[in-house]
Order: sequence, then structure tokens, then C-alpha cells
Amino acid sequence: MDEAAFSALAQPGLQRLRAYDPGLDLVALRQAHPGLVELGSNENALGPSPAAVAAAVAALDDAHRYPDPIGGGLKRALAAHHGVSPGQLMLGNGSHELLMMLGQTFAGPGLDVLASQFGFAVYALAARAAGADLVQAPALPAGHAMARGHDLDAMAAAVGPRTRLVYLANPNNPTGTWVPATALEAFLARLPPTVLVVVDEAYMEYATEPGLVSAVGLLARFENLVVTRTFSKAHGLAGLRLGYLLAAPGLVAVLERLRESFNVNGPALAAGEAALADTGHVERVRQANASEREALADALRARELAVSPSQTNFLLVGFGADAAAVEQGLVARGVVPRPMAGYGLPGCLRITVGLRDQNRKLLQALDEVLA
Ligand SMILES: *Cc1c(COP(=O)(O)O)cnc(C)c1O
Repeated sequence: MDEAAFSALAQPGLQRLRAYDPGLDLVALRQAHPGLVELGSNENALGPSPAAVAAAVAALDDAHRYPDPIGGGLKRALAAHHGVSPGQLMLGNGSHELLMMLGQTFAGPGLDVLASQFGFAVYALAARAAGADLVQAPALPAGHAMARGHDLDAMAAAVGPRTRLVYLANPNNPTGTWVPATALEAFLARLPPTVLVVVDEAYMEYATEPGLVSAVGLLARFENLVVTRTFSKAHGLAGLRLGYLLAAPGLVAVLERLRESFNVNGPALAAGEAALADTGHVERVRQANASEREALADALRARELAVSPSQTNFLLVGFGADAAAVEQGLVARGVVPRPMAGYGLPGCLRITVGLRDQNRKLLQALDEVLA
């Protein structure tokens, strides 16, 4: 039997699902291009905190033991960091796992999951894996100041009696755009309390706009709010797979029924605690990203390219009909961006903000390709 034949045996929701596309085969590309400039996955250009790496290595001495099944140490540290109680926290094997579990737990056949057009790809996976229907609210137009960003009015208008879950990234991937905390609060106030709103803050540490602050402060007012965070981006621990969510204790208790007992490994738990404590490292990451993000956006705009506003560690750049050729030309020169056709943006590439030298190599390769 081939894939189509086995697919017919799968749950109805999975029959219409396609696997997450992780991008190019980087292992082969690294061999072909020593010094490959990898700007396709929004990884942290400065890497992890050395203290986090040391903690993970030390934890390997206990590799024969199961990890703490509740991650108590890390949860207490996160609770103190965010000003919540440990019972409001749940840890995940990356926030991807938590986003999927939210769908498995609260969505299902006959229910709608709402996201924005140009929302993060995992939301569609989470909806369909649960057998629910994905409803996409139209995004703001490309010409809007917050180009292709979330249109909260359109999202609120798309909420109906079947809507159980709303996924919304702030700031958003792949657009880089954001909604101010005040707008998010007004949006939450418009929804019935039985509609759960998941605010994915994977990039929140990179935010520099004063109006863009975490929704964690809204948890006390809205019991239907879930905030997800990750150690993969600003903490530079994508390879260890560690994320978490914050929500009402009752909601966390229901999600816990589905959680695999040892979903987060020991080195990740140890690294997470050390990374959270190394506030100096996160601050250096934030500042380096903010200045390089601005410089790179300016350099791209100087080449008459359309660059969306970004509060993340990447830029969405418009190349029009040339996008696929530009991508190929960059990869041939050892620079890897992320094509966006899968997001319905065939004219755009998403480019992670790298170190200064990497950004220089990107611009040099781009000038050769565009010449
Ligand atoms: C990178 C990213 C995540 C984080 O995924 P992890 O599973 O925690 O590595 C979550 N949401 C968005 C929007 C992202 O871009």
C-alpha cells in the first residue's frame, strides 16, 4: 500500500493533512557550503547562554534516570519570572507540542478553529489533526502599515457558535507584525468565555515597541486566555525542545490529562532554568537583534524591496515574481532564506536576522543575484 492507501485508513482529520515542511535539507547544504549562512528558521544568531549549555551537559550525568515528570524547578522559576502560580504553567517539548495538545484537547469534529490568514503553519495542523475545521480570517492588506498582520476586527467577526479555539501569534510568524496589548485586550473582551484564545508569544522577547507587551498580564482578567512561550528563539535552545504555556489552573489541569509523562527531558529542564536566570544573555540577544534588524531592514529597503514591519528576529521581504529565482540564487551562494509559497506568499522570502557578518554576506549574495 502506498501513502494514499494508508491515508484512507487514517482518522478523517489526518486524511486532509500534510506534514509540516521544515525547509531545505540543511545537512546536505552544510556539506556543500562550509560556512553556510542559515537564515531560514529564525534561530538565535548568538546561540544559547553558556550557563544553559553547562547545565544541560551536567544533567547528562543523570541520563539513566527519568526526568522530573512535572518539571517543578523550572515551573517555580517561570512562575516567579511571570508573576503567576506554578499551577498556571505547563511545559512542552517545544511550544509546538503544546499548540497541538490544545487542539487535541479542545477542538474536534464539528468545531471550528480560528486563525488569521498568514498565521503560523502549526495552527492549521493542530486544527486538522483534531478533526476540526480551520477558519481563516482575512489579514490586513499588504499595503496597510501593519502589512498582512492580524485584523482583530475580522477575527472577532469570524467567531461563531462552532468556534472553540482561536490561535494568534503576537508578534506573528511569518509576517513579523504585531498587535498592541490594548487591542488584544479589547479583542478578548468581545469574545464569549467559552472561546479559548491562544496567544503564541514565541518572539515576544524580541519586541522593542512600547505598546507591544505580553498578554500574561491579561490572564487574571480572562480565564479563556492561554499564552504560549518558547525557549527556542531568544533563549537559543531550539535543539533542546522546550516551551511552556500559561493559563487558568483549571484549563492546565485538563491539558495535563493528555500530556505524555516525561515530555520534557532532563537536560532541557536544567538548561531552561539556567537560561531564564541568565538575563544578561537574553538582553544581549535582544539588543543585537534590534540593531541588526533595523540595519538589515534599512539595507533591504535601500534596494527598493518591500520589507514588512517586524518585532521579531526575521523580516518578511517582497521580491514579486523573482522570489523563487532569488531564493535559488541565494542558496547557490550559501545563504538560506525561507520561501513563503506554502503560506500563500509566493512573492516573499522570510529572512532571519543574523550576526552582522552573516547579514553582510546575505546582502552581498542578494546584490549578485539581483544584478
Ligand atoms: C518558532 C515558533 C514557535 C516555537 O516552536 P517550538 O516548538 O517552541 O520550537 C512557536 N510559534 C511560532 C509562531 C514560531 O515561529
